[in-house]
Amino acid sequence: PPHTRQLRVEDLSVRYGGVRAVESVSFSIAPGEALGIIGANGAGKTSTLRALMGLVPRAAGTVRYGERNLTKASAHTMVRHGIGYVPEGRHVFSGLSVEKNLLLGGYSRGWRKANQEALDGVYARFPVLAEMAGRPAGALSGGQQQMLAIGRALMPKPSLVLLDEPSMGLSPKLVEEILDILTGLRAAGLSLLLVEQNAELAFGATGRCLVMENGRVVMEGDVARLRADDRVQRSYLGL
Ligand code: ATP
Repeated sequence: PPHTRQLRVEDLSVRYGGVRAVESVSFSIAPGEALGIIGANGAGKTSTLRALMGLVPRAAGTVRYGERNLTKASAHTMVRHGIGYVPEGRHVFSGLSVEKNLLLGGYSRGWRKANQEALDGVYARFPVLAEMAGRPAGALSGGQQQMLAIGRALMPKPSLVLLDEPSMGLSPKLVEEILDILTGLRAAGLSLLLVEQNAELAFGATGRCLVMENGRVVMEGDVARLRADDRVQRSYLGL
């Protein structure tokens, strides 16, 4: 059955010493919705995602997922409550096999059956990972490594997946493949939060986006409205 949890983030802020990287960012994601965050390098997108996930301290703000208040939750706790994370730059372990990389995202030791089921699910979604299961992750192409990073995040069966710039370093053809993957995740009922410098990908994969500049949300709207906006066209679509 589709999940029913809504994510609500209110007034999230991030500071690095004196640097105010994120200032009072608020948004919510309905069950099954895909939300994008676009913005230039350094706008605060990655910091927003990492603070949401509990990977950098939340200087202020609240995070709720469904009935739960996760404001103080660690990344590990976020994962336990159904939130998956695909880091910028993929961070797969190149010397380990594809399967070992997937298992690192899975349940703790002793959960053999759950892990086997989760592996089967990932292999069904990404058959190329099944073909390459025994190969070192370093032998995969960039696009396949991104697939592996997404597959690893899917191992604990999340209901919401946070993705940090999955298009990074990929050719336009592979970016199309990423779009297909994200479309498939949405079709499976997952909620998505997609951080992207590639506004085209964000607009293709989501229904609604935030635009960040200097740590703040400066614009928010449905993709159709943002696409039609002069400023968005000039600054983010290169038109
Ligand atoms: P990108 O994803 O393209 O790197 P971004 O929009 O995600 O950019 P952030 O990486 O979140 O932006 O950075 C926001 C601001 O915080 C920038 O001014 C950046 O220099 C600063 N910053 C990021 N990480 C740190 C850190 N560990 N220490 C100090 N400042 C940081």
